[in-house]
Amino acid sequence: MVESAVEGLLSREFLDPAKARDLERRELGQILRFARSEVPFYQSQEIWSGLPLGASVDRDVLAELPILRKHHIHENFDALKARRLPNGELVAGQTRSSGTTGRPTKVLFGGRAIRMYGLLAQRGMRWARFDPTWKQAVIRLPQNLPRRPDGSVLADGDAHRSRGWMYVRHWFHTGTMVGFNRTNSAEAQTEWLQKERAQYLVTFPGSLETLVYACQGKPVDSLLALHSISATLTQGMRDRVESATGLTVHQSYGLNEIGTVALRCEAGRYHVNPEHCLVEIVDENGSPCKAGETGRIVVTGLTNFVMPLIRYDTGDLGVAVDGACDCGRTLPSFGTIVGRYRPMQYTPEGTARHVNIIQATIAELPLEALSGLREYQIHQFRDGSFELRLATKDEDNTRLTDALRQVWDAQTDVPPPLRILRVGEVLPTSGGKQQEFTSDFFPPIEEGS
Ligand SMILES: [Zn+2]
Repeated sequence: MVESAVEGLLSREFLDPAKARDLERRELGQILRFARSEVPFYQSQEIWSGLPLGASVDRDVLAELPILRKHHIHENFDALKARRLPNGELVAGQTRSSGTTGRPTKVLFGGRAIRMYGLLAQRGMRWARFDPTWKQAVIRLPQNLPRRPDGSVLADGDAHRSRGWMYVRHWFHTGTMVGFNRTNSAEAQTEWLQKERAQYLVTFPGSLETLVYACQGKPVDSLLALHSISATLTQGMRDRVESATGLTVHQSYGLNEIGTVALRCEAGRYHVNPEHCLVEIVDENGSPCKAGETGRIVVTGLTNFVMPLIRYDTGDLGVAVDGACDCGRTLPSFGTIVGRYRPMQYTPEGTARHVNIIQATIAELPLEALSGLREYQIHQFRDGSFELRLATKDEDNTRLTDALRQVWDAQTDVPPPLRILRVGEVLPTSGGKQQEFTSDFFPPIEEGS
């Protein structure tokens, strides 16, 4: 089964474009017909009832459907669950986003969608030509690393150890994986990397930059490749990291609500994983952008029948492209992502930890304590103080603010001042992108980033 699944992935990468479009039409038709017949949220919308949904559906149909936003998921969680599942499908897990703008978004995943994590991670590693015997070092937020046996998150200073690489180990034999919290200081991360001597490092762009800046090059000479996940590096930062380390930075793009959406190829495009999702780059009206235009990245999941997300707004911006990619792959693609990028290396020591305290507290609170919360934004002022802006529907945020105050004040060192205020809405930054964390220490946005 592993072999056929992997061969299936391989065969789509260089497929004849006409055949690829046929497959896309079939898979899109399947999830749209399912969503209309089994998911109350879509069923209740009039626009869906008149939609021509045959065995094969062209992606143009999507432009007629409304965009699904984060708050729609919060407000319609139950209505988005399928009433019945296809044969053999089952609820296999759930993801809960943290570190994105706003309150955490919970999404249920079916077995087919969960399975894609490992398979698609393997695709990225195959493209990057990673040797599966390498040791993998992962630096992420504690809540995104594997939990300890008692269910608690990894403590700062401690290391996680697994016998195989993250996601991929369920499918393939690999070298070991070691994990360390991103909330550790840059010095502690460097020291840990020098002790572990892994061949490749998986982390967020912000951490990658911080490490490379702190070490003025490779954090440890054993490293052979770098892998940036979730958010994306700007081109300028990629160039600086690559020239300072002499290593290639591989990049995948994904989100908790969908999984791995796209992988960056050596020619610099993001290729969509077409067996898992469909990506549109759209303007404010939800219509497709022309090549060269920047628009919202909107994703339709094709494998999650438990909770189908149709036209989900990722909150990220991407550049539409057309024509064939220089790498020769015929997978659908898009250009640069203007993503959840945070140049943390410019901020004072401890900033990542402070931001994470707020994000983790919000992420761990029961959803009913967050029911009125639509979005939030954390801002750091030049004097080091923080401001948390809550865009809420209700006047009463006592549970949320009390919890935050308590955790904030319980820090062992004296924390910087934190002001919590209620706002009408969270304003996007000058690039049009909503950022969950902004800082007076961040430099102005780079051209073309
Ligand atoms: Zn390519």
